[in-house]
Amino acid sequence: MLRDQDRIFTNLYGLHDWGLKGAQARGDWDNTKAILERGRDAIIEEVKNSGLRGRGGAGFGTGMKWSFMPKTEGVRPHYLVINADEGEPGTCKDREIMRFDPHKLVEGALIASFAIGAHASYIYIRGEFVREAEHLQAAIDQAYDAGLIGKNACGSGWDFDLYVHRGAGAYVCGEESALIESLEGKKGQPRLKPPFPAGVGLYGCPTTVNNVESIAVVPTIMRRSASWFTGLGRPKNSGTKLFCISGHVNKPCNVEEEMGIPLKELLEKHAGGVRGGWDNLLAVIPGGSSVPALPKSICDEVLMDFDSLRDVRSGLGTAAVIVMDKSTDIVRAIARLSRFYKHESCGQCTPCREGTGWMWRLMEKLVRGESSMEEVELLEQVTRQVEGHTICALGDAAAWPIQGLIRNFRSEVEKKIAGRSQSAA
Ligand code: SF4
Repeated sequence: MLRDQDRIFTNLYGLHDWGLKGAQARGDWDNTKAILERGRDAIIEEVKNSGLRGRGGAGFGTGMKWSFMPKTEGVRPHYLVINADEGEPGTCKDREIMRFDPHKLVEGALIASFAIGAHASYIYIRGEFVREAEHLQAAIDQAYDAGLIGKNACGSGWDFDLYVHRGAGAYVCGEESALIESLEGKKGQPRLKPPFPAGVGLYGCPTTVNNVESIAVVPTIMRRSASWFTGLGRPKNSGTKLFCISGHVNKPCNVEEEMGIPLKELLEKHAGGVRGGWDNLLAVIPGGSSVPALPKSICDEVLMDFDSLRDVRSGLGTAAVIVMDKSTDIVRAIARLSRFYKHESCGQCTPCREGTGWMWRLMEKLVRGESSMEEVELLEQVTRQVEGHTICALGDAAAWPIQGLIRNFRSEVEKKIAGRSQSAA
């Protein structure tokens, strides 16, 4: 289990002052100038060496992503865009960072922007996060007043401006290119890639988009070193991670833990265990609604990191752990997710626009006990036609939970079909 001295988010539950004074007392903004003086390449190298993988879901190397930015900031402006849209069902970790540790994000934004040659950064925050936007703006104002950002940030000679932009409630704006479109004042629809944002991003300029948690851990990595970070977790899955645990546990919570902690240990040590005991567990969605649910037999052993969860054909995603006990109608639960994706599809590409509707209708039929096994096969075929055939990952996100249901919970699906046969008899 993670030692207290290795925690990054020491104000996760808001027990202390989240303002500048409190943040400084916890070590934030401690000689940030010295970090910047190490130079852009050294910062990128340190973050690369830490093995930090994006905390928004995809798990791509953060330092690697930064290194894709061209060295041309004199020609076109560079931008850092921080994705604080956090719309993935079950996920509420970035919200806590912005509520209770906003200075970690503001300081991280300065360091990351300096590393990629950006003099301006935008935090795109989910519209519903009213209080979080207020805390964030207050922290930014405090940082400006103290000379930590703005002209000659921290006395480093680097000018840096940071803006908060509030979204309007579209899930798809959590996709980086839709987020950029929305930030530019257009309809939030994903762009075809390539070109990627590092070449053509915000206002057509080189842009890096990173998740809140990815940026907020950077100052600590720079202070404590890449080797400290890689000493936590497992190879290629280093560091600590915020997990959001919800559903049928005794104590739903957000918690920071080491990557690679066994799922069972995570739930029992921090969330008071599964309601009714471990044997009452039916399923866990380990990484937000876009990844397949896992049955108890896999949950008994699985480790919570990118590679371990990929190996069991699920994913760490946003690390939103949704627990379902045996009282759950899992077919109905997944059908509810299908409705969500149908509603949130931007409608731009046909497989997603039409496919999410098809998947939802077939799932609803299954829930009502009106489906045959042939229709379940049709449902699976529809998911295969959507997966990998769309502009953005929302199509995959809609398909994967259904594929997981059919693969991992076949007996629950068959019970629905059997229910149909009995009522017909
Ligand atoms: Fe829009 Fe769906 Fe296509 Fe993404 S996959 S661009 S959400 S229609």
